[in-house]
Amino acid sequence: MDASAKSLVAICHQLYQRGLVSGSGGNVSLRVEDGFLITPAGLSLGSLTENQLARVDLTGRALFKGRPSKESPMHLAIYQAREDVKAIVHTHSPHATALTCLLGPGWYIPPYTPGYAYLVRHLPLVPYHRPGSQALADAIRKEASLTNGLLLQNHGVVALGASLAEALSIAEEIEDNCRIYLLTQGQARSLSPAEVEEIRKVMG
Ligand SMILES: [Zn+2]
Repeated sequence: MDASAKSLVAICHQLYQRGLVSGSGGNVSLRVEDGFLITPAGLSLGSLTENQLARVDLTGRALFKGRPSKESPMHLAIYQAREDVKAIVHTHSPHATALTCLLGPGWYIPPYTPGYAYLVRHLPLVPYHRPGSQALADAIRKEASLTNGLLLQNHGVVALGASLAEALSIAEEIEDNCRIYLLTQGQARSLSPAEVEEIRKVMG
């Protein structure tokens, strides 16, 4: 295949090496001309190769060979809702997922690091629906218009980027910020609104 497939596979290997996905969990997609490339169902991202990728069009139809991830409906919903999103990284990273099991409606995780404050402006919690279900895709579509990061209750993280590298960075910042919250039992000093504003002004 091409450079798109190559960069997608490289990101998958990084996710696995950094412990953001394990087993056959997690999936990644990249928008291409006629739809999106996506990781296949049931295979580890750690040993993925380019010819195992699947391609799906923007009506949700698989275009050839590879069997798309069972979670492709949520990728499709995001690409349909957000033209600016070019890549999606979905992880079951341990600290963020732990928090999705602890927190309920109205929860808030403050920004602890400058990278998080800059990259993740809003982190909604999507209520639990079965992974791969249309109900989950619909719930994500509703929340995706305003954010580039989502937590899925009892499930994991979805990061939306203008590139694969950006989506990976967002997924990492979410995991790191959630780890700080858990390690400090929510008692860490967070960045103040003025500090967050300054970071966004300078880095934006
Ligand atoms: Zn998942």
